[in-house]
Amino acid sequence: MIYKVIVDISNSEVDRVFDYRSNFPLSPGDRVLVPFGKRKIEGYVIDTAETPSGDFELKNVIEKLDDFTAVTEEMLALANYMKTMNLRHVDCLRLFMPSSLRKGKAKLFKRKYIKFNFEEFDIEKALASIQKNATSQHKIIERLVKTEIEQESDLNRMFASSTIKTLIEKNILIRVEEQEYRTPKCFDIEDKDIKLTQDQKDAINCIMGPKNAFLVHGVTGSGKTEVYMRVIEEVLKKGQNAIMLVPEISLTPQMLGVFRARFGDLVSLQHSGLTVGERYDEWYKLRVGFSKIALGPRSAIFAPLENVGAIIIDEEHDGSYVSDSNPRYQTIDIAKFRANYNNAKLILGSATPSVETYYSALEGQYEIITLDKRINQKSLPEIEMIDMKREMKAGNTSFFSAKLLTALEETLKEGEQAMIFLNRRGYSSFIRCSECGFTPKCPSCDVALYHHTEDNSLRCHYCGNKYKSISVCPICGNKHLREGRIGTQKVVKELERIFSDKKIIRMDLDSTSTKDSYVNILNMFNNGEADILVGTQMIAKGHDFKNVTLVGILDADISIYVQDFRANERTYQLITQVAGRAGRDVKPGRVLLQTYVPNYPVYGFIRNYDYESFYTNEIRRREGAKFPPFSTIVRLLVQSDDEQIADGANTKLASQIRKALESQVGIIRIQEMRAQMRKRADMYRFQVVVWIDRPASTQAVEKIYEVVNNFNEKKVTVFTEINPLQMS
Ligand code: ADP
Ligand code: ZN
Repeated sequence: MIYKVIVDISNSEVDRVFDYRSNFPLSPGDRVLVPFGKRKIEGYVIDTAETPSGDFELKNVIEKLDDFTAVTEEMLALANYMKTMNLRHVDCLRLFMPSSLRKGKAKLFKRKYIKFNFEEFDIEKALASIQKNATSQHKIIERLVKTEIEQESDLNRMFASSTIKTLIEKNILIRVEEQEYRTPKCFDIEDKDIKLTQDQKDAINCIMGPKNAFLVHGVTGSGKTEVYMRVIEEVLKKGQNAIMLVPEISLTPQMLGVFRARFGDLVSLQHSGLTVGERYDEWYKLRVGFSKIALGPRSAIFAPLENVGAIIIDEEHDGSYVSDSNPRYQTIDIAKFRANYNNAKLILGSATPSVETYYSALEGQYEIITLDKRINQKSLPEIEMIDMKREMKAGNTSFFSAKLLTALEETLKEGEQAMIFLNRRGYSSFIRCSECGFTPKCPSCDVALYHHTEDNSLRCHYCGNKYKSISVCPICGNKHLREGRIGTQKVVKELERIFSDKKIIRMDLDSTSTKDSYVNILNMFNNGEADILVGTQMIAKGHDFKNVTLVGILDADISIYVQDFRANERTYQLITQVAGRAGRDVKPGRVLLQTYVPNYPVYGFIRNYDYESFYTNEIRRREGAKFPPFSTIVRLLVQSDDEQIADGANTKLASQIRKALESQVGIIRIQEMRAQMRKRADMYRFQVVVWIDRPASTQAVEKIYEVVNNFNEKKVTVFTEINPLQMS
């Protein structure tokens, strides 16, 4: 038998299959130690064969590394699928297990116990078989006859270990080892006895019916999570397993609490914030079938479960489901593969589905399930628009409109809390007129142009067009054009000046550099130790502060101006989410949204919580401009630590792509350019952007992958992204 092995080295030169023989039986998916050149290296058996693939001498596998098969058949197939997307085979396999397993660092935790050997001794017989003056031995025997079993480490604290050893040698005491799982902490939540609403019942029945893919479109607080949990119960009843994905690590302890309360030990948490030991154990529990539900952010999609009955992606629109570091993948692609393989239910859930998902759903890819009412008839907070141009004309040049200040004052006087939100999505530079709000946009792509300071140009990163920058507003003639963005720190200072007796805290990337600071800030605010929380995207999600009745959104417009065809969608999602923080308890909430473009259609839809109209408007715009889902944008990011090499490779790649797509219909544009972020982590960045009409997408993308997979330039890496979330 020949064993096909992928060695655990991430390097394009060795990313291929090597043949080995073995003196002992192995199965595909086993991790092994193999001789490789002069070294011994870990590897994965991915396949077997009757005959070797070439005429060379074969070495023997040295050792099988685990007493279980680390990679299931399904995951081997998944790696095969993923590697066609410009990923190294070994990088895919590595995703499927905790790194500590690979380096043999983490082992299962065994706790040692000492117990009295009741089968062969009773207390008289035991005491008779030791010396009269051995008082310590005497005491230990008396104690263990009573307690029966104790942790060895506890006994060692009370008695000399040599004494215990003597008693073990005499067979009076026995040592037992018990495997113990290290379990991550979660919020203590009590399971509620919930009587489902009719909407929830209908949703569950629909999901458990004949169809397989669903989009649960439900407003915040409509009871989606309860639906997911009931579906998982059904799946478990059938003897199957489930995967539950949530967007942010910070949201997992809460969700874990809810799930633990319902499912207990059947839930395993999968994420990078765990200790090495916890991570290993949580993974192992799933692999051996001790747990049946994998819960976690995107990486949990690789949970080592077999026989998966349901895959749930909560907040499916969230950007965190796209991996933006190597290996790059889109969670939805993996989820679809696994759902297909297992014939499982695939359930996407969101209050604000992504436009592309909704489009697929309307096309028939997903069955849409709508939950449009909050549980208990609670209403969504009212959103008021404030025209900042008018404020400016009235002489108010501060960050805050008069109305927001009054509202803040009232809220704080009532002893309630407020949140001030600053939009910081895609913090690129764009130019904006301080008078009329005008921002220069690309005439062909209808997205805001980036301002490049190095040559004072305005550029479109979709089509590559370049324009001279402007210094006067072409609409109103104003000479005060500014590069727009406000800092959280400035806002806090200003608020501290106005409300000098109040406590104001901020949360943004700078203030949360350590893991704990994040939780600390949230706890502080939750306990009422602060009155106003100022923050960026980070305060938008999931948090449930009972006493917040006012949310102020400063400068809501930024994400409308960032260069991103999804800007409208982002704005809709973000503001809906932020607004959802207000009035979650008994007291009703209020949202004030400051804008320079109060008539921007998206804001109207947001105010009315009218997703369908937002969608209809947006999909029309995308169709007109041929943005996804009506096209596919492929971005090939070319990086090297040598600028010239990167530039050269980029040009070369672009010409190979052009050649490969020469006779391909439906190519809208192929453009090579420097990336917006010229250099990152000491790597110079260039890109080739291919824009393809939708009908031609599949075929063209295959051709592009073929070129990229064969593109081997020294010192150069190429990342392929399909419809990237950011072009920076
Ligand atoms: P979503 O995930 O849609 O935001 P959740 O499932 O978290 O909503 O539900 C919001 C709240 O309502 C939770 O506290 C949940 O326990 C509660 N809840 C859900 N379904 C019901 C129900 N049928 N009856 C009463 N309370 C419910
Ligand atoms: Zn353009």
